[in-house]
Amino acid sequence: MIDHIGMWTWGGRVYNWKKYLDNMHRSGMDTVVLWHADKPPVAAREIQDYGHNLGIRIIWGFNWSWGGPVCLANEAESLRWREIVTGLVRDYYAPLKPDGICFQVGGTEFGTYCKSDCDVCREAYKTGVGPLYVEFAGRIMDAVRAQWPALKMYANLHLGQVHASYEALQVLDPAINIMWEDLPGPEYHIHVPFAYEWELEDTTLQDSTVDMVRRMCELRGEREDVSFVIKGFPAHWGGLDPTLLEDFDLKVLSSTYQHKWDAAADYCERKLDQALRVFRVISESPAREKTVVMLVEHGLWEYRRHYAAELIAEALRNPFRDPSEVIRVTRELQRGNIE
Ligand SMILES: [Zn+2]
Repeated sequence: MIDHIGMWTWGGRVYNWKKYLDNMHRSGMDTVVLWHADKPPVAAREIQDYGHNLGIRIIWGFNWSWGGPVCLANEAESLRWREIVTGLVRDYYAPLKPDGICFQVGGTEFGTYCKSDCDVCREAYKTGVGPLYVEFAGRIMDAVRAQWPALKMYANLHLGQVHASYEALQVLDPAINIMWEDLPGPEYHIHVPFAYEWELEDTTLQDSTVDMVRRMCELRGEREDVSFVIKGFPAHWGGLDPTLLEDFDLKVLSSTYQHKWDAAADYCERKLDQALRVFRVISESPAREKTVVMLVEHGLWEYRRHYAAELIAEALRNPFRDPSEVIRVTRELQRGNIE
């Protein structure tokens, strides 16, 4: 069904990576994307070894022109980033022989616009930046693929600016695994099954969303791997600091966010039938491999296996069940968890 289930988190919001990975393992998760600005943490190799002993894949996320305005129509800028990215891969990532790298590209993210406000980009923001993305990022992907053909690559892409033209990505090398972030809505994107924001908004799954997820899953057929980042856990974004292994008081840190998790538990149970419907579509994708990771960051997963996330992981494991059955199994799994 769904081959890999796990987490996506900013590395700097992991306060104890051993306990974080231990708890992932207890929940039967096997993949984590750790996001850093532009280089892996000092303990990267140790984290990989520890993860691999638990059967967990470690994917390093870093930005390809992320976090600032960029002109996607500018070839020189694309070539400049090609140099930067291939340098980072050569110096930091390729030597680690990781389970994968994951990248995002500026200009495809919310609120990042062309720095020269050029006509091409201005038009593309209306019709979708998919074609520009394919050119801008495609040059970088091709260069990395040519030099490190065994390196698994995840093109992590917010739907925001790409939404209207996502089908343009069909021409990407199928060896590049698209990792869709945010689920589509009828016009822009909507946070279904879950709201991203701290205030859990009430959104309803629509047929058009289910249909678009299906088309995303079929975009490049059986030649590709397909991935989704599922949002909506009471997380706080950010954290470029190194992934840590220090003696934090996890209980105290955790208490800051517990009320969010409590709200999410109720929300996720209410929305579980909608989530299962989306997950069934993903599990029926013809893609040769399917991965779903949940955005669980700054949620102190290293302290407690929070019910909401464990419920969704369980739903992903077999979405062809009634919500009541998924809830029952999750409650069993929660035994032995910190109360
Ligand atoms: Zn531009």
